[in-house]
Amino acid sequence: MFWQKEIETLTADDLNKLQLERLRQTVARAALSPFYGDRLRQAGVNPDSLQTVADIRRIPFTTKDELRTNSRQMLTVPLSDIIRLHASSGTTGQATVIYYTRTDIELWADLVARSLYMTGMRPEDVFQNMMGYGLFTGGLGFHYGAERLGALTIPAGAGNSKRQVQLLQQFETTAIHIIPSYALVLLNTFAALNVDPRDLPLRLAYIGAEPYSEAIRRRIEEAYGLKAYNCYGLSEMNGPGVAFECLEQNGSHVWEDSFLLEVIDPETLEPAPPGVVGELVFTNLTRQGMPLLRYRSRDLASYDDRPCPCGRNSRRLSRIQGRTDDMIILKGVNIFPVQIDRVLMELPEVGSNYLVELRQEGATDQMIVKVEIKQEYFQEELTFLKGLQKRITDALKSELLLTPRVELVEHNSLPQTEGKAVRVVDYRQK
Ligand code: ADP
Ligand code: ZN
Repeated sequence: MFWQKEIETLTADDLNKLQLERLRQTVARAALSPFYGDRLRQAGVNPDSLQTVADIRRIPFTTKDELRTNSRQMLTVPLSDIIRLHASSGTTGQATVIYYTRTDIELWADLVARSLYMTGMRPEDVFQNMMGYGLFTGGLGFHYGAERLGALTIPAGAGNSKRQVQLLQQFETTAIHIIPSYALVLLNTFAALNVDPRDLPLRLAYIGAEPYSEAIRRRIEEAYGLKAYNCYGLSEMNGPGVAFECLEQNGSHVWEDSFLLEVIDPETLEPAPPGVVGELVFTNLTRQGMPLLRYRSRDLASYDDRPCPCGRNSRRLSRIQGRTDDMIILKGVNIFPVQIDRVLMELPEVGSNYLVELRQEGATDQMIVKVEIKQEYFQEELTFLKGLQKRITDALKSELLLTPRVELVEHNSLPQTEGKAVRVVDYRQK
């Protein structure tokens, strides 16, 4: 089950040595860029002054805003050596841009191939990539990785649900890459076409790109009759293929030979111990064109450093709880959207989609949760629906510690996206 066995099974000690060596190389390379050249000089850091991996803490963090305004100044090579750029989806503001050399693209493809191989994808598989092709890294990133592995790769792109189902049938697709919220929405199209996804030869799904609960994974696995693996990545660190679940499905292995991970308390900026949620900070260890040092991702998760039964020693990330800037603050309570997801998706009557609205009503703020109900339950009597509404409200209340207003709506009635789901709309005046 190993694509690059030697690297994937390095002992903690050997990994540490490799990381230090690569960190020094990366710092030397980054210093060639105007941005990091200045920064490293000011911090008084050069490759030789890094005696241990922990010495990285002498280098200041790189923030998303710095990346937004300085990405060209972070290049270590002339533009003639750059062959591609990607941009983040811009979920939380202006998109960040990353430039890749040919070597960067190749190393990235290898990491994705390694991830796919780990979960059992083989050259015999037919892989349908239902992600946006374009500036978003989920499309081309997986595409190159699956081709590198040698699977027949169908560049289906995002959306166009009927066509997706046809392609799945026509080419006997065995593996898909799909945004989890879209995987649920696509079930409506299967139902409309009277096709049961479990009758297809599908056996693997890769789901990521947005926070989602374990309940959503289970729903996808059951409805499609396959194994679904979490994949995590961010365009600032190439894109997909930063951390990936193995067959154990017990957290996502970070490819620590390529990315140096720090987990920090976002307030104090001190390292967080294993099991404690903090902000993920990444340093590229192999990128050539545009290595980032200590990039603050704003993503929140914890890590587990115990060895995994799969034989890999790299640390495993918990599911992403959300981003520091996703947190809803309502009536003084802090809430992550994924908490709402977890509660709703555990309830069998709840359909594929929901929407959270934050509104100012008089002097107070109100959370309105619109929940799609499965067709068969929506036709039930009013007393049943009233009871269901109360059950959902109570379940949310005990998780969130405030009482939202729950509205039940018909299935397929809330806005859908082909890309990352928009689950929260804030109408409050800022
Ligand atoms: P944007 O930050 O604009 O959405 P990207 O397209 O680069 O830009 O997406 C990367 C982000 O998507 C990550 O920083 C993270 O917030 C989210 N993400 C990616 N994979 C996962 C995953 N498996 N679980 C939760 N969130 C994820
Ligand atoms: Zn493992």
